[in-house]
Amino acid sequence: MTRVFNFSAGPAALPEEVLKQAADEMLDWHGSGQSVMEMSHRGKEFISIAEAAEADLRELMGIPANYKVLFLQGGASLQFEMIPINLLRGKTSADYVHTGEWAKKAIKAAKTFTNVNVAASSEDKGYTYAPPQSGWKLSKDAAYVHYTANETIGGVEFNWVPETGDVPLVCDMSSNILSRAVDVSKFGLIYAGAQKNIGPAGLTIVIVRDDLIGKAQPTPPAMLDYKTHADADSMYNTPPTYAIYIAGLVFQWLKRNGGLAAMEQKNIEKSNLLYDYLETTDFYRNPVAKSDRSRMNVPFTLKDAALDEEFLKGAKARGMTQLKGHRSVGGMRASIYNAMPVEGVKALVEYMKEFAAAKG
Ligand SMILES: *Cc1c(COP(=O)(O)O)cnc(C)c1O
Repeated sequence: MTRVFNFSAGPAALPEEVLKQAADEMLDWHGSGQSVMEMSHRGKEFISIAEAAEADLRELMGIPANYKVLFLQGGASLQFEMIPINLLRGKTSADYVHTGEWAKKAIKAAKTFTNVNVAASSEDKGYTYAPPQSGWKLSKDAAYVHYTANETIGGVEFNWVPETGDVPLVCDMSSNILSRAVDVSKFGLIYAGAQKNIGPAGLTIVIVRDDLIGKAQPTPPAMLDYKTHADADSMYNTPPTYAIYIAGLVFQWLKRNGGLAAMEQKNIEKSNLLYDYLETTDFYRNPVAKSDRSRMNVPFTLKDAALDEEFLKGAKARGMTQLKGHRSVGGMRASIYNAMPVEGVKALVEYMKEFAAAKG
């Protein structure tokens, strides 16, 4: 068996240990005589899996008791809609920070429900930086402030958490959740699709402060109301059981490996390997402001785009896949989430050096 170094932005690589454990438990989970996929979501076996997953996530992130953790479906994209539906609470506007492709989609979705005040934007420099809070134009009567902690496509990450006073802070953490320690108490709501840094596609995690639940006006359809899912412990209807199980194994893997502080150090080390090399060459270029470069997604272009195909082919021959950049920006993108071992990043940098030496 040969496993590749998979640099996909999502669905993305999972820890090999987790995949092996899932394989071992595939036919018979803990003597139950069945696969987790075959279990009733209301049975005691699966309930124990879901409860452990939530408890481990709470421990890893230090989630305070006055926050609910919801295991939902529909991806981050459904949250682009559920957030205004639930959090406007009779107010008529929300503040959004525009930092690139994902913020743009969140803004577009919100506009169908409310007035959106773009409190800050990095459009002036092609979405290559995180606008400093000193320039934000927040509105006093905003229902909430929304920002994208890591722009997966542009490779721009906030290394700080905005201060929004009494106005709830809402964060799309799809592509950097669990990559670093965060103070959850600063947020009203955090959401993330699982397929970047948590587990399989199909699971979406929402961490929401109690007092923001059940205040939607008008009352939303049941499936779109956080209250429905909070009251039913995410079992109002069948949750994505297997995805929750794998996410739970990933949480245990994180705990065994030192938790988020240790993961953050590893992510700094890995991303520095790439950025330090990028600094030394003009064969490759990353356009992002140094202070806001993402530890998770590293986009770069080659000096001559005509070499892109050859670069990708050579990478594939060395067991490195999914390096092609997003169609909207071109070039390359190396996504190096928690599950990417440092060896994978070293192999990529070695290859980049060789390629530049041969073609530069
Ligand atoms: C991938 C991604 C999304 C979209 O997620 P879906 O689960 O496909 O809806 C939204 N925001 C960010 C930051 C992402 O990386």
